[in-house]
Amino acid sequence: MEAKYNELRSRLAEIHDLNKVGWVLSWDQRTMMPPKGAKARAEQMATLGRVAHEKFTGDDIGRLLDELRPYGESLPYDSNEASLIRVARRDWDKARRVPGDLRAEMTRTAALANAVWAEARKTSNFGLFQPHLQKNVDLKFRYMECFDEGDEPYDVLLDDYEQGMKTAQVRQVLEDLKRDLVPLIAAIGERADAVDNACMYGHFPVEKQRAFVLGIIRRFGFADESWRLDPTVHPFASNSSPSDIRITTRYYENYLGPALFGSMHETGHGLYENGVSPDLERTPLCRGASLGLHESQSRMWENLVGRSRPFWQHFYPQLQAAFPEHFAKVDAEAFYRAINKVEPSLIRVEADEATYNLHIILRFELEQEIINGKLKLGDLPEAWNARMKDYLGIAVPDDARGVLQDIHWSAGSLGYFATYSLGNIISCQIWEKARTALPGLEDGFEQGEFMGLREWLRENLHRHGRKFTPTEAMERVVGGPIDVGPYVRYLKAKLGGIYGLEN
Ligand code: ZN
Repeated sequence: MEAKYNELRSRLAEIHDLNKVGWVLSWDQRTMMPPKGAKARAEQMATLGRVAHEKFTGDDIGRLLDELRPYGESLPYDSNEASLIRVARRDWDKARRVPGDLRAEMTRTAALANAVWAEARKTSNFGLFQPHLQKNVDLKFRYMECFDEGDEPYDVLLDDYEQGMKTAQVRQVLEDLKRDLVPLIAAIGERADAVDNACMYGHFPVEKQRAFVLGIIRRFGFADESWRLDPTVHPFASNSSPSDIRITTRYYENYLGPALFGSMHETGHGLYENGVSPDLERTPLCRGASLGLHESQSRMWENLVGRSRPFWQHFYPQLQAAFPEHFAKVDAEAFYRAINKVEPSLIRVEADEATYNLHIILRFELEQEIINGKLKLGDLPEAWNARMKDYLGIAVPDDARGVLQDIHWSAGSLGYFATYSLGNIISCQIWEKARTALPGLEDGFEQGEFMGLREWLRENLHRHGRKFTPTEAMERVVGGPIDVGPYVRYLKAKLGGIYGLEN
């Protein structure tokens, strides 16, 4: 059995290598590649994806998995061996349903759509992007047909990002959020003038932003020998292995917020991947358990740490020294309020903690309508703009700042957005646990000390990689399923304090 297990492991290692090469190509595409490289890159990625897919879905891997099933079941559930056999089986069953040609076509179409989207966004030209989006959507329909019908077709898409999660569950969670957040945002709106964030705007040279950001994320665990930070159009985190973490950010010379909080966010993603146990390298277990759990990590470092008073107690004097013309006359409390200002805005990734979720609800609802055939893509910009008006009360001036702002649909990622709100919610559930387990946590932040939190997260979540399902991982780290309670409590307490609301 051990020989068979080693055989499985070495085959999966090869497939993992191919997949990771694909990740590096994709990182390169989004950071370094000149635009005219797009066409050839799409072919390269499609070829690589098809080879990996064919290698993985072959009968030989299926036979090994069959033979190893009793061996896996005889071992402790959380052992590396049992976990690898179990998770590979699940992946194999799922991948087998998708023909290699369809997989390759999805990769190729998405890579091309991605390049067109970048151009369309620059020129705010939805018409240019629409046929490519249509191709992505059509392929998604073919993809959904590969699977048994769930409770609703969208379940198939969701499962790729949040295994086992049902659309109905997500809908309920988002409804719960909406119920609590809409009145909170309205109450804050009545007192909008209570917080001034003018200090965040002005002139901030990119090199100075980068240096300041690096000063922060090095304290979180970014290390030059195993991480990179590069500029990009749409920030993301990627990696080639736990010791080769690539994070990206975007700089605005006239606005400090995006690079500052975006970099902390992507560092949170990087720490998750960096924290996976070295035993799991070159296996399909070597990454985070789900996108929701991943996003819980990025949001934790960005918001619960990075927008907190104790954090800025430590870093604010350094920020004042880096940008004296902006902050010399702004006290730490005014800065804390400024970075937590709640204000309906156009761009999801720059939204405050409260309105952010309305951006997600909008996207989740539009995706449902596209998949259910109720919304034609030609009407998408209008539907987007109407909902922005409805949920956030603002008019969208152009599609670049509307329907074209996010990369996801160009990359063929439908079913993805909801995981951002799940991440927000989970981040607070984990945070409550971490604070109980680590007394004096925030006193440490005041001293610029974050390793206690990082190590606790590594021990309780990161090191396990993908050994456990999202549900199992949640059970282990917070002791139960997703619950909006801690998140709503956190927002009400924090923002209620800043805006002087009665609770
Ligand atoms: Zn993220």
